[in-house]
Amino acid sequence: MSPPMTDPIVTRFAPSPTGLLHVGNVRTALVCWLAARASGGRFLLRLDDTDTERGSPEFAAAIEQDLRWLGLDWDGFARQSDRTDRYRAAQDRLKAAGRLYPCYETAEELELKRKSLLARGLPPLYDRAALALTDADRARLEAEGHRPHWRFKMADAPIEWDDKVRGRVHFNGRDISDPVLVREDGRALYHIGSVVDDIDMGITLVVRGEDHVANTAMHIQLAEALGAAPPAYAHTSLIADAEGHGLSKRLGSLSLRSLREQGIEPMAVTSLLAKLGTSDPVEPRLSLDQLVAEFDFAKFSRTIPRFDPAELERLNGRILHEMPYAAVRDRLAALGLGAVDESAWAVLRPNLQRLEDAVDWWRVVTGPVTPVVADAALLSAAAELLPPEPWGDATWGEWTAAVRERTGVKGKPLFLTLRLALTGRDHGPELRGLLPRIGRERSLARLSGRVA
Ligand code: GLU
Repeated sequence: MSPPMTDPIVTRFAPSPTGLLHVGNVRTALVCWLAARASGGRFLLRLDDTDTERGSPEFAAAIEQDLRWLGLDWDGFARQSDRTDRYRAAQDRLKAAGRLYPCYETAEELELKRKSLLARGLPPLYDRAALALTDADRARLEAEGHRPHWRFKMADAPIEWDDKVRGRVHFNGRDISDPVLVREDGRALYHIGSVVDDIDMGITLVVRGEDHVANTAMHIQLAEALGAAPPAYAHTSLIADAEGHGLSKRLGSLSLRSLREQGIEPMAVTSLLAKLGTSDPVEPRLSLDQLVAEFDFAKFSRTIPRFDPAELERLNGRILHEMPYAAVRDRLAALGLGAVDESAWAVLRPNLQRLEDAVDWWRVVTGPVTPVVADAALLSAAAELLPPEPWGDATWGEWTAAVRERTGVKGKPLFLTLRLALTGRDHGPELRGLLPRIGRERSLARLSGRVA
């Protein structure tokens, strides 16, 4: 592996366990992981599970399983639901600094305000009416049974950062609506959890989708208000589908789980997603180490990359064609193909699009195969010329040379006729490799048109 390209990066992947991982957030996880590994740093998995109405333990478990299947290991694990004390301490600090203030508007009132601003062509920023409330106003509202939600007071100041993908980004605090950090029921929302965790866990780089860019402007002020230097940021472009539409419409069919069930190899997913939106060509890679060695934020562009399932399929086949036996031995055994040894694997793999295809092709060896008899006379001459066993790699060449000499049939008419009889199909793995495995007895039967 090449030497670390930067200081060791500490980063995190912070999914909300509200669904299965899909190609969009898998890409974020992969880019985080690659950045950490390429720098000799650390990669943490953090579940943003404060949104307990939608989050579920099943999705949390599925996220961990899916990351393991991809080979993305983590050096630390946390869930936000275990860290509410920390978020409360941060709230106290922000209140003491005058940056967190109570608001009593109902959702309906806020919606009316928003609509009226939009109708006047103004940005829908919260008007900070709650800041004008007196102690007496608040006491009355509380006595009437109103519970406050709490907003972070954005400072009227420029916010800038050098994004590792987007370059220099500029915002001004005055253009960002004061975000709600704490709900009426006292629960801390994503923003405070995310910023507090990033500080506590020593995160030096946040990688996430560009839908979070405006959040980042706010998170930078929030981190500073909590006395911390904000981390570096990399906002990756969102992925579009093959037609250029947003991916979200088809997320279900592009969950990692469904790709895996369709027989897609983890390295096909990572080979594609590591290079999507970068200047590197997409090529089959057999190990994550290779992707780590090739990783560099300088290769990422802001253009919206397209994810084409057909490209993933092609990559899957190319990866299987190069897959070493040691990497598939156990999986072959699990498919009932314990008899496929290293040399048999070399015969089968050029024909695989998915590993499961090996089951079908191995049945061509073990039978039963229903032969297709295209030229009975030719097959009968071929059967007579079958040499005695033992057979090896040279058998096919010697035998077909003898058949050609006896019958005068050569080239495609000869080979296709033999293939149709021996395998029942017009294409497949090389007969040179298949024949010794089919063996003399089954070959003789199939050349005579018998199912064997
Ligand atoms: N839970 C957030 C998400 O899934 C995390 C964003 C972040 O990385 O801070 O979008």
